[in-house]
Amino acid sequence: MTRTASTAAALLTLAAAVAVSAGTPADPIVDSKMTDGEAFNGLDPACPKELRDRQKVVAVTYWGFDGKLHRGQLVVDKELEKDVLAVFEVARAEKFPIRSVVPVSHPRFRKNGKWDDDLSMAANNTSAFNYRAVTGGTTLSKHALGRAIDVNPLINPYVKGKLTLPPGATYDPAARGTLTADHPVTKAFLARGWAWGGNWTSLKDYQHFEKPLPPAK
Ligand SMILES: [Zn+2]
Repeated sequence: MTRTASTAAALLTLAAAVAVSAGTPADPIVDSKMTDGEAFNGLDPACPKELRDRQKVVAVTYWGFDGKLHRGQLVVDKELEKDVLAVFEVARAEKFPIRSVVPVSHPRFRKNGKWDDDLSMAANNTSAFNYRAVTGGTTLSKHALGRAIDVNPLINPYVKGKLTLPPGATYDPAARGTLTADHPVTKAFLARGWAWGGNWTSLKDYQHFEKPLPPAK
């Protein structure tokens, strides 16, 4: 083989290796690629149509704990798409690892056919829209409006007194993928007018960010 031919052969081998190695910017690992029909399948029939119609399936890219790029989907109020994409850009720049971002409507997060936040949390899955009440209450959660996001819930648990959700989760501010008050991801949300559950005093919801509704005119 001539030197040129061997270089060409080496380049071809390299190109083939790149083509098959998923998790690169050109070829992220796909964690979620639902159609709209799939993303809203099984939605609680009590959800008002105008609320459902405000929701948008937003594709997001993030670093996984495996050091590879992943592609997932977040369902949020369409007005918040810009915020979400900007925060994920910060998360990527910071190499902040996210386990998965899959709508809670996915069959593996169903219990008796219903969307189940407990299953999503236990899987450390990041999600947003879910027509449900607040944890431990009856009033509608900001998740029901598509105005709240839970990030890496298994390592950023909800803690109220002795209750920790998901069960068995522990909050270690030093662990990768954990949110703290001074973390760039937290700051990116706060800079856009979102509130962080880790700043609450009556309970801590470290996984939770929400954006209040604009004041009524
Ligand atoms: Zn939440």
